[in-house]
Amino acid sequence: LKRVLCTTCNYPLATCVCEHISQVDLPAEIIILQHPKEAVHAKNTARLLSLVSPEIKVINTGQDHLLNELNHRIDKEAALVFYPSNESKGFEGEFVSDPIQPKHLIFIDASWRQAYGIWKSHSWLSECKNVHFTHPPASQYLIRSAKLQHQLSTLESVAYSLNCLYQTPVEPFYQALAGFQKHWLTYS
Ligand SMILES: [Zn+2]
Repeated sequence: LKRVLCTTCNYPLATCVCEHISQVDLPAEIIILQHPKEAVHAKNTARLLSLVSPEIKVINTGQDHLLNELNHRIDKEAALVFYPSNESKGFEGEFVSDPIQPKHLIFIDASWRQAYGIWKSHSWLSECKNVHFTHPPASQYLIRSAKLQHQLSTLESVAYSLNCLYQTPVEPFYQALAGFQKHWLTYS
């Protein structure tokens, strides 16, 4: 049976999220490094995120030239990479209170194992400021809870960090997530 897609949000009509979307202007460049397996995952939140903030950049980590381009383009002194490495620092402390606000926020959209692989194979990421959350809010994203236990979804990570750094309202992000999730609970 051919599924009919909404021409605006591109989700199947039965699970259209348009009524839950209000767009947000980004105060910094948001870059999502997405593992190719996440791109095809139906419960992935990066696609939902790009409806809330169309300027967001989702980069497929299978495309090396795109990562090289990014490596040469961004100002690493003004870039935060959200990844809990051995050297990462707590985001909620010095980075949130720093009057010099970052220009690029980089997130890795992948499982823990895949994220580790991405971090290891692109060593320039560690030349950026590397941070992890120390006091994240509880995740509202219940439909992937087994996988994401104690971890925020990519959408929630973006919303939380923007709110901490620039007081960007989180409601549009959480509304989109709730609308998306409601469909899954209804139809699955
Ligand atoms: Zn729609």
